Amino acid sequence: MKDDNFLKENNAKHLWHPMGHPGDSLKNPPTIIKGADGVHISDLDGHRVVDAVGGLWCVNLGYSNDVVKDAISKQLYDLPYYSAFAGSTNPTAIEASYAVREFFAEDGMARCFFTSGGSDSVETTLRLARQYHRLRGEPTRTKFLSLKKGYHGTHFGGASVNGNNRFRINYEPLLAGCYHLPSPYTYRNPFNETDPEKLAQLIAQAMEDEIAFQGANTIAAFIMEPIQGAGGVIVPGETFMPLMRDICDRHGILMISDEVITGFGRTGDWTGARHWGVKPDMMSTAKGITSGYFPVGAALMSEKVADVFEKDTTGEAAIFHGYTYSAHPVGAAAVVACLSETLRLDTKTNAAARGTQLYQGVLKLAEKHDIIGDVRGGHGLMTGIEIVSDKAKKTPMDMATMKRIHQTAYDAGAMVRLGMHNILMSPPLTISEDEVNTILSALDAGFSAA
Ligand code: PLP
Repeated sequence: MKDDNFLKENNAKHLWHPMGHPGDSLKNPPTIIKGADGVHISDLDGHRVVDAVGGLWCVNLGYSNDVVKDAISKQLYDLPYYSAFAGSTNPTAIEASYAVREFFAEDGMARCFFTSGGSDSVETTLRLARQYHRLRGEPTRTKFLSLKKGYHGTHFGGASVNGNNRFRINYEPLLAGCYHLPSPYTYRNPFNETDPEKLAQLIAQAMEDEIAFQGANTIAAFIMEPIQGAGGVIVPGETFMPLMRDICDRHGILMISDEVITGFGRTGDWTGARHWGVKPDMMSTAKGITSGYFPVGAALMSEKVADVFEKDTTGEAAIFHGYTYSAHPVGAAAVVACLSETLRLDTKTNAAARGTQLYQGVLKLAEKHDIIGDVRGGHGLMTGIEIVSDKAKKTPMDMATMKRIHQTAYDAGAMVRLGMHNILMSPPLTISEDEVNTILSALDAGFSAA
């Protein structure tokens, strides 16, 4: 590896970072992570901390899973790549599709379309939703509904259904026909409603109104994250997702559950939708599907959707959509190994227990630190903390203070993630009780520094 000075200098000169300011790398150099083990990461200076981010909501198995590493390595020697476009495929991709289908059988997912990541998976579901309606003789159904504060990746389709202006404003015009409903965010919402079930009713009414205004026969699909992740870990009330499911059913709208973060155990169950007994029509997945060891995503279809494509008589069911790396054999090997390890280790059970510990611990910190405006979580290892400078007025904390909290927590032993004035946490699902305590004491130090 090149020496540290080379890395720091060239990082600033040549590398543009996702979600980063291209001119900022010299003034605010990013932390260069050069190694990882278990749930820890180590930087260039040898500082080793608990990774409370899990890479980016994805390293569910931690960094030291040899079963996944060996499977990837073996596949590289057997078949490093071959196209899976119509006419050819590879054995590992077939095995991976079987593993994914089995994993989500209880959720009604019957077919799998592999992609290279979450944005691709979202894009695939949106495109196939439109095609589904065309095949059924309803070509007017082209519009999409989604939630404010939702994050669905950065392709034009995903950005169009994203519910945060930051990801949209510089890239407009986006896809026409995308409409956004309020988020089930009890801390701030246009109705000033703090009761999650009453808020669910108000959003359901807003959705009914929007559908009536647009015309149900113009709407292809509704996409939502069961728990909004990047938007700040927003956990809806018990009735919210079932209400959304019911409205979709009554109006012939496909429901897409974006499980890119919430799938594969992070929420304490294998999908987010399962917490509320909801079976979506389609799911977008990525991240935990390979625990971040290889870039893979998958769009999943229920039997209802699959039937329309597979039993088509119009001759229009061919899918003119896909990626060079769809069903990549090395990615597929990572999927097979990762899912078998996920089941063997029953990661959802540890996620539930350690998630409760983390959430309760942060609630305790909120009693001590006035800058904590809202704590969100309680479903596995997804925890959000909203930081304010004035609790009564709910004034978002300034970025300089947020960065100080972040740096102090890092120095004290934990990497957390900032999402504007929120702290977002999603550590590996293999984390231990002691390691959660390390995160909590690092946060405590960070809040004290603020
Ligand atoms: N959907 C959700 C819910 C996500 O959280 C993300 C990324 O964090 C995406 C889609 C996009 O995934 P990717 O960054 O792999 O393209």
